[in-house]
Amino acid sequence: MPFHIVDGKAIKTGKVTDVYFSRTVEVLQAKGVHKRCVAEVTLKNRKADWDFGILAGVEEMVELLDGVPVDVKVLPEGSVFHPLEPVAVIEGVYTDFAIYETALLGLLCQASGVATEAARCKLAAGDKLLISFGARRMHPAIAPMIERNAFIGGCDGVAVVASAELIHEEPVGTIPHALVLMLDGVTEATLAFHEVIDPSVHRVALVDTFCDEKIESLRAAEALGESLWAVRLDTPGSRRGNLRQIIEEVRWELDLRGFQHVKIFLSGGISAEDIAAHADVADGFGVGTTISSAKVIDFALDIVEIEGQPIAKRGKWAGRKDIIRCASCGTRTVVPASRLPEHCPCGGPVEPLLVDLIEDGRPVGASKPPQAIRKRVLSQLEELRKKRETPRAGR
Ligand SMILES: [Zn+2]
Repeated sequence: MPFHIVDGKAIKTGKVTDVYFSRTVEVLQAKGVHKRCVAEVTLKNRKADWDFGILAGVEEMVELLDGVPVDVKVLPEGSVFHPLEPVAVIEGVYTDFAIYETALLGLLCQASGVATEAARCKLAAGDKLLISFGARRMHPAIAPMIERNAFIGGCDGVAVVASAELIHEEPVGTIPHALVLMLDGVTEATLAFHEVIDPSVHRVALVDTFCDEKIESLRAAEALGESLWAVRLDTPGSRRGNLRQIIEEVRWELDLRGFQHVKIFLSGGISAEDIAAHADVADGFGVGTTISSAKVIDFALDIVEIEGQPIAKRGKWAGRKDIIRCASCGTRTVVPASRLPEHCPCGGPVEPLLVDLIEDGRPVGASKPPQAIRKRVLSQLEELRKKRETPRAGR
């Protein structure tokens, strides 16, 4: 049996569509209705505990709509967005793009969910290391998509080889329990790793397989000395007790014996809240399911204008819109695209945030490398941190 996935061609040809869209197109074509409309992508529901999201999936959206006769404006990939802001605006003959809605929303909703959760974790981690470890919990076909968006959202590295290739980074990893079990001990496993693996790879001992984290950390440190970069605590939930005290104790014992250079890396079911609670005592975090299976962002695509006339369903604001941001006070406002103000109420100059992505089916401008997108995300997170916004999103 082949894998239960479709290839890129099936997505491009609109086969991944809810059937009601293809039937709608069939009806409109039979009736000769080829109206031009404007549709916008917004977050469906404003949630009380939701502050911001990171928009991702835009690059794949270009791949999907390349050649479809539409004009598209978007917030650039890796932009912070807020509820009710139009993150993408599509204009064209409805029957030309209707069948792409399912795939289009799927690309944006999941990628943005992953990037947003990674950003929450990065806000909690501050300058501590954050690595994506969760590919194993999701379908392997989408591992590169997940880890690419984990990276642009704020992760410093990704674990899967194919994901790292996509973003032109070196994959990051430590030692699995399997190696410690196969070689019968943390000392044996760490020494064998040190002997065999390329010296450019950090030596990180996994210190919770057989004995106490303190004992195994000291064994690994005594065996490798200066060459040991870090110890990883993957302490099972059933043995955690007070995880913070375990970390502090390991730190104390390592320092006491001259191993101040050895970092402490934490993994195993880590959430953004866990990171916030341990960021002052740990040096890095490996985050799995929290990021890889992040709750999707509930974007919806809605028609807001037909043949130049504002119109929308109940619950949606009609008319083509833009988002403006004040260069002085930073305030963001959703405004009618036909009535962009020149100044903020504070007097500062404003700039519209939506940029051209596709013009009449042709992509405009080059895509940015993931490292550049990530850098921009990190600077926006720094602004959010300064504004003391609560780092919670999507749930
Ligand atoms: Zn202002």
